[in-house]
Amino acid sequence: MGRSWEERVAEYVDSPRLRQRLRVDQQISCAVDGNYGIYKTQASLKKGRKESSSCSCPSDYYPCKHVFALLQTYKNHPRSFLDLDLVMKKLSKREKPELLDLIRKMVLASPSSLSALGIKGFEEPERDYEEWR
Ligand SMILES: [Zn+2]
Repeated sequence: MGRSWEERVAEYVDSPRLRQRLRVDQQISCAVDGNYGIYKTQASLKKGRKESSSCSCPSDYYPCKHVFALLQTYKNHPRSFLDLDLVMKKLSKREKPELLDLIRKMVLASPSSLSALGIKGFEEPERDYEEWR
């Protein structure tokens, strides 16, 4: 107790608790090893777009400390984030059967990715925010 907001954010900045750091265009995301589980955290790099951030943690604050830590970590170490555009550039040179095989492997690793294809019933469960209030 008694720790400032800044200290609570700093605890996460550049920390190994921010995993799977990813950049997709102007959107960054990571998985956070939080105090009450693993959270999925997203933020926009566009100025003044804090409202487009999200985090699956139970915090009452919005944006929460994880969003601030994600943005600060990107500011300090942008190269610690995987740039999906670079991955896509490499993929664009692959043959279609190879890509289909990759999609098959990705779906097995993460069935919820099927929701990107519009397939119902595979969405990530949405957390009910009301239950924390
Ligand atoms: Zn959070």
